[in-house]
Amino acid sequence: MTLGTTYDPNNIFAKIIRGEMPAIKVFEDQDALAFMDIFPQSRGHTLVIPKKAGATNFLDADPADLSVLIGKVRRVAEGVVAALGPDGVRIMQFNGTPAGQTVFHLHFHIIPVFENEPVKRHAGEKADIAELEALAEKIRAALA
Ligand code: 5GP
Repeated sequence: MTLGTTYDPNNIFAKIIRGEMPAIKVFEDQDALAFMDIFPQSRGHTLVIPKKAGATNFLDADPADLSVLIGKVRRVAEGVVAALGPDGVRIMQFNGTPAGQTVFHLHFHIIPVFENEPVKRHAGEKADIAELEALAEKIRAALA
């Protein structure tokens, strides 16, 4: 899908927001939801999404909504860093299929980077759910 794609209310993240699909959540408030990426690029790869439906990507989003969302991204990133102690962290965001976007509900990636642990390919292998739960527990505790 290219830029300008119409928002599909049945995309996977919309279903997670509505509770129709499971997710391992680490943060939730009235504006945003953060949960573990199920095909993580690194230990602790977390996604932050707006709860409001309608924006497929960054360019599609209301700047006022983006300014609220970026504060949540920062907060969750701080929690991920405090919980897992990575050596670096990538904050990423893709727009349109040619740019690597695979889910068309606006989202930010928080990808902790650890020295000597290669970052895996995007949307690659499915994680072990018990491992994701354990990581999420640490991130939740850091955010509490
Ligand atoms: P995008 O490719 O659109 O930038 O990012 C979508 C992300 O969602 C990918 O990193 C992918 O691994 C992740 N993802 C895809 N389907 C699911 C799912 O059902 N649950 C979770 N938690 N993550 C998903």
